[in-house]
Amino acid sequence: MSRTCKYCGNVLEDGDNFCQKCGAVADSVQDNEPGMSAQANANVTNNFNQQQNTANSQAYAGKTSGIAIGGFVCSIVGLFVAGVILGIIAISLGAAALNHMKTFTEEKGKGLATAAIAIGVFDIIGAIVGAALIVGNLF
Ligand SMILES: [Zn+2]
Repeated sequence: MSRTCKYCGNVLEDGDNFCQKCGAVADSVQDNEPGMSAQANANVTNNFNQQQNTANSQAYAGKTSGIAIGGFVCSIVGLFVAGVILGIIAISLGAAALNHMKTFTEEKGKGLATAAIAIGVFDIIGAIVGAALIVGNLF
């Protein structure tokens, strides 16, 4: 297994404490084993991903989920018009918001998302019952 100098690329003999060419200390030489550099690359990639995740978490930290707000608004409007359609949208958005908060735990709006789902269900039931009452009154 040969080692090369990190600075000048000179191939080092086993047991060399210093690079024969440029004098760099052996601590600064790298193993040339392919497995080592692959692991090093994986570490660099992991670090990068972790930094990105941290940055994303901080971007949502303390902010109320826009998806949850949208779902809640849909659920409220759905109480008055288009209950089935808006109810389904409200439930979908509420569930999406809750799912998003599993990843970004600092994000706010869990109550809104839960309310969107609950009111969304009520929208759909209300719309069906309302339609049944209207149809029942017609005949
Ligand atoms: Zn060297």
